[in-house]
Amino acid sequence: MIRVNVETIKDSKGNTLLFQKEADLSNTDIEEISFAGPVNVKIEFTSSGKIIEAEGTIEAAIQRPCDRCLRRAEFLVEAPFKETYFPAGTTQDILKDEWISFKNEVIDIEPEVLKSLIMAMPMKILCDQNCRGLCPSCGQNLNTGKCACSHEDIDPRLAELRELIKDKHGDKI
Ligand SMILES: [Zn+2]
Ligand SMILES: [Zn+2]
Repeated sequence: MIRVNVETIKDSKGNTLLFQKEADLSNTDIEEISFAGPVNVKIEFTSSGKIIEAEGTIEAAIQRPCDRCLRRAEFLVEAPFKETYFPAGTTQDILKDEWISFKNEVIDIEPEVLKSLIMAMPMKILCDQNCRGLCPSCGQNLNTGKCACSHEDIDPRLAELRELIKDKHGDKI
């Protein structure tokens, strides 16, 4: 839980609260993310007297296996945070589906913090832009040394290009 007490701003229009915390979410049981350190939360809460708008940034060091060589890769994710909270039991007709209710002056923002991090996760994780990956035959990590398998040292993109040129000029190359 990341608890934010909004008692002091809840009922006063225009009041703001800056919430900053290094949260330890290492025990969070979530498949997509494995944390390599604390999660830096910096969010400003602004009350309208009825609802509370929250906006800020979440920063976290994440670890995940490299997509090419499976070595542990660590990287920083910076996610924008933007949510609207309202006191539970409110019967206003302005309520929107995506708004989140809270009880007793305390908002637990952990679910939304995790959600914004997951949405900001990069699609591809590499330990290094030049990672050579694993040998497809023997599994040797080619970053740490060559293996005994014979490799055709042709860049697949180059091979494709050669095919294209061949098509245009017959078999002259
Ligand atoms: Zn790698
Ligand atoms: Zn090999």
